[in-house]
Amino acid sequence: MSFTSFVPSLVLLFRFKNKFVRISAIMNEKHYLVLAYYHFVDLPNPREEVARHKEFFVGKDVTCRIYLSVQGINGQLSARLSDAQAYMEWMQSRPEFSNIVFKLHEHFEHAFPRITVKYRKKLVAIDADVDLSKRGEHVSPRRWKEMIECEKEKVLIDVRNDYEWKIGHFEGSELPPCKTFRDFVEYADKLKEKIDPAKTPVMMCCTGGIRCEIYSSILMQRGFEKVYQLEGGIINYGEKEGNKYWKGKLFVFDDRLGVPLSDENSSVIGTCHHCGNANDTYYNCANMDCNELFLCCPDCLPIHSGCCQESCKTAERVRPYHQIGHKPFRKWYHYT
Ligand SMILES: [Zn+2]
Ligand SMILES: [Zn+2]
Repeated sequence: MSFTSFVPSLVLLFRFKNKFVRISAIMNEKHYLVLAYYHFVDLPNPREEVARHKEFFVGKDVTCRIYLSVQGINGQLSARLSDAQAYMEWMQSRPEFSNIVFKLHEHFEHAFPRITVKYRKKLVAIDADVDLSKRGEHVSPRRWKEMIECEKEKVLIDVRNDYEWKIGHFEGSELPPCKTFRDFVEYADKLKEKIDPAKTPVMMCCTGGIRCEIYSSILMQRGFEKVYQLEGGIINYGEKEGNKYWKGKLFVFDDRLGVPLSDENSSVIGTCHHCGNANDTYYNCANMDCNELFLCCPDCLPIHSGCCQESCKTAERVRPYHQIGHKPFRKWYHYT
């Protein structure tokens, strides 16, 4: 959602890296800010930083999923406006995080089940050590849009998962297998035979940018010379350029699952898992031991009691089906 198109009743200005971001405080019942951010920096003692974060969140109305490693931080967080602001100011006041860039969305409730701050060996789960010294060139959303328009010979790679791609992606983008390092390397080697790795621009995007840092460096190490990554990811593109060349919704890894990329209308490109009708609303199967993520239309949801398949309906641990609020059943953590 763009922060420039609202007519808010109360507007606060946040200053990020000499740039003002306008945020409405009370509007459309959206009282929460959802932050997405990552920052590569040497953290010699990431576990200490985990403790520092947890201490900072004491007494604050915050939910989050934050991972810290010796490589830096990868985080998502939702908070009341004042707590979100306090967090961003706290982070940017510290030398190791002073350059961090926060991508912001508004939401009407918390986006995560709880406060999760954890140490991880790697910031992006990939089963190989990747040398991050040479990464793809960052391009602004505007330049990205111009490259889509002007570059005749190009490859546009989306390094997200297939379930993310299914509900929304850039027109003409490819979805290479990114589950394992080996899969992606195989894809890269095949691509090298199809295009001239020294000349053809390879444009790469993901949700918030961090996965491109990893996958672009793999391409560069394999001899691709013109590798470009969308700065701040698809979230940033939506904020700056809206839906241009984008179809569908943006998948996000929190309770919202899918959000509009901007406030412009976009077509629905997913289909209901049960009936095949156009649909882009994801649910986790009501059978908690299945938990399969699937697209389901409002007609099929009650018929199947929020389940992905018939056998899940009679499973042992099925969440009760409630036709209330914006989601038909309560979130899984209410039942565990
Ligand atoms: Zn359906
Ligand atoms: Zn299921």
